[in-house]
Amino acid sequence: MREGVVEIFQNAYSELRPGTSLPELKIDFYAFANVNNTIRLRNGRLLVRLSDLLEGAPENVLRAIAHILLAKMYRKPVDRAHAARYRRYVGSHEIVRKAHLVRQMRGRKILRPARGHVFDLDAVFEELNMRFFHGLMARPRMSWSQTRTRRILGHFDPAHNAIIISRIFDHPAMPRYVLEYIVYHEMLHLKHPVRLRGSRRCVHSAEFQAEERLFPRAGEAEAFLKRM
Ligand SMILES: [Zn+2]
Repeated sequence: MREGVVEIFQNAYSELRPGTSLPELKIDFYAFANVNNTIRLRNGRLLVRLSDLLEGAPENVLRAIAHILLAKMYRKPVDRAHAARYRRYVGSHEIVRKAHLVRQMRGRKILRPARGHVFDLDAVFEELNMRFFHGLMARPRMSWSQTRTRRILGHFDPAHNAIIISRIFDHPAMPRYVLEYIVYHEMLHLKHPVRLRGSRRCVHSAEFQAEERLFPRAGEAEAFLKRM
């Protein structure tokens, strides 16, 4: 079984600093356009950001990056074998190509205007922002999907900082609260970035789901979506 990423960091920490206890650790995967990994200590917590390109990396590569980041953090010498292993992985043909592809894709994504035939997504966002988030959320690019897809009703794309909503909701017969419920869900993705518990991606965390239930007509909207 695959060792969890948090455990990998814990082990790397005990190797570097035996006898001391590991600070609270928070690890997130971020969509960096380049392979980029960061670590910092903030209020006694270690905050680690890993490029999402490393999400599928083999365990020994994750062990290497954990060692390198922690060694830098605590000004310890970086073990050569770990450094070499990491460089080999990042430099390998596959990941170079993948990074290139991701950059290309991120650069080229086509976004549509927020104003549809019936609904203006910017206006929907701002209204929900006031109602649920004290107006504090920075608005990402809001876009209708290119096609009238039923497979993906909405998604938040962190690489482009964009929320894309299926065009099927831009229809006069669509109740506004159903569209709002979809947009609200995607706004919660903005608020709760994907976090790791062990090696498992936790896309809809307990906090996420609790907050989703604060939408007053959530049950009604769910029922409507099921009938659609
Ligand atoms: Zn979701």
